[in-house]
Amino acid sequence: MKKLITNATYLTKDYTWQTGNILIEDGKIAQLDSDYVVVDETFDASGQIVIPGLINAHSHSYTSFLKGTIDNVPLDIYMLHAFAGNTVRNPREIYVSTQLEGLQLLKFGVTSTFDHFMMRPKATLEGMESAALAYTDCGIKANIAPQYSDLPFTDTIPFEKNELPSEFHSLPSSMSHEEYFELMKSAMDKYNGKSKVNFVVGVDGPQRCSDELMYKTADFVKEHDCGWHTHILETKTQAIASYNRYGKGLIEYIDELGLLNKKTSFVHYIWVTDIEKELVRKNQVNIVHCPSSSLHLGSGVAPVDQLVKDGNKVAIGTDGGNSGNLNLLEKIRLTADLHNLAQPDYDHWLSAKQSLQMCYDNGARVMMRDDIGKIEVGYAADLVFIDTMNILWQPVCDIMTQLVYMETGQNIVRVMVDGETVVKDGKSLLIDEQALIKEAIEISNKLSATTKEAFVRLEQQYPYYRKMYLREIKKDIGMNRFIRPVE
Ligand SMILES: [Zn+2]
Repeated sequence: MKKLITNATYLTKDYTWQTGNILIEDGKIAQLDSDYVVVDETFDASGQIVIPGLINAHSHSYTSFLKGTIDNVPLDIYMLHAFAGNTVRNPREIYVSTQLEGLQLLKFGVTSTFDHFMMRPKATLEGMESAALAYTDCGIKANIAPQYSDLPFTDTIPFEKNELPSEFHSLPSSMSHEEYFELMKSAMDKYNGKSKVNFVVGVDGPQRCSDELMYKTADFVKEHDCGWHTHILETKTQAIASYNRYGKGLIEYIDELGLLNKKTSFVHYIWVTDIEKELVRKNQVNIVHCPSSSLHLGSGVAPVDQLVKDGNKVAIGTDGGNSGNLNLLEKIRLTADLHNLAQPDYDHWLSAKQSLQMCYDNGARVMMRDDIGKIEVGYAADLVFIDTMNILWQPVCDIMTQLVYMETGQNIVRVMVDGETVVKDGKSLLIDEQALIKEAIEISNKLSATTKEAFVRLEQQYPYYRKMYLREIKKDIGMNRFIRPVE
């Protein structure tokens, strides 16, 4: 199957803009600027710009049913909301939740996403395959990293002895280590390299895992030469709790396990010491910046301008849709703007072009794919068409800056994955959206009815978490990631 896009003003691999034709053959970009005419289908892209599909380096599909449920609380309390709202779901409910996520992302121009997948009470192959099928059916590429940890959540929070009443203590994981790694082996063997979906090891947070589990993770990752993905040092309380436990930085501990390499991705990476930064830079570990989630949860601002200047590979993620939204274009803009507040020397401020490069080049590294993120011969034809002949864009003075600072996603007219149009004029061509909405509402109503008790119990825990949080946040740990020093 050959398709020709004519009159396309597209983003080149050198981050310049070129107008010409793009020939697609069997889902890949076959030629650029050719005058090839014998094709099965032609698209006229006059009045549009064409960019590679965006790459979302971190999200959580289970939060599709938790939209808008969290406001004005830090991560430690957010986690209680996430536990309360993320009830046990059957495979069909996981399918619907994941498909909502996939479609929302596609409509914002995302064609590859990294799902740090959560399933309660524990991951199953059936549930993981439901998620894989949901992504495949709506047409988006995905890495799925089923989250795991084995320690009781409350043991990883810096409570003082007897500060949290025992009735609120959480339980350890009900999944054995062996079960998790067998599951991962089965999923990786079945999917990786054979479909739009790959499975990746997904540590929830190393501080939530026993030493034994982290040793086994290191063994599995080395044996299979595979990637692993984890949240890391998102909050000050995590940095304090980690130091209390290990007597050193969390990343120093991970380094001793031999787990720092190019296939590792660290999400958030906010409360890191200079020693940890050097270990990560030296080992070329990928970092995923989730600016709106960090703002929403008041976690702090990652030192991204310095990280980029020091040569780190920083990608961009939305994080879960309940800690912000899934508009990746907004996160790209925030990446370009937010860090201007960090230092006055504007030579080190991130530009529109740099933040776009972070999304594409480093996003592809996090996805561990070398065929996405560029409009270049041999690359997958994952393309987003944006209409510019409208009031919001005209006059077009500079495409790059208007794309990053002004485009919200509302002018996206077509999204292609592997040369197939999956979204056109804001509508999925593969999914019956009305049927999906109807089923999502039914499931949401059913799940909400089962969570009422959990939310009452959650509110009873607020005072204990607040006391812990306000005490720990005031501690001097030799770094500050808030915009003012804590008083
Ligand atoms: Zn996350």
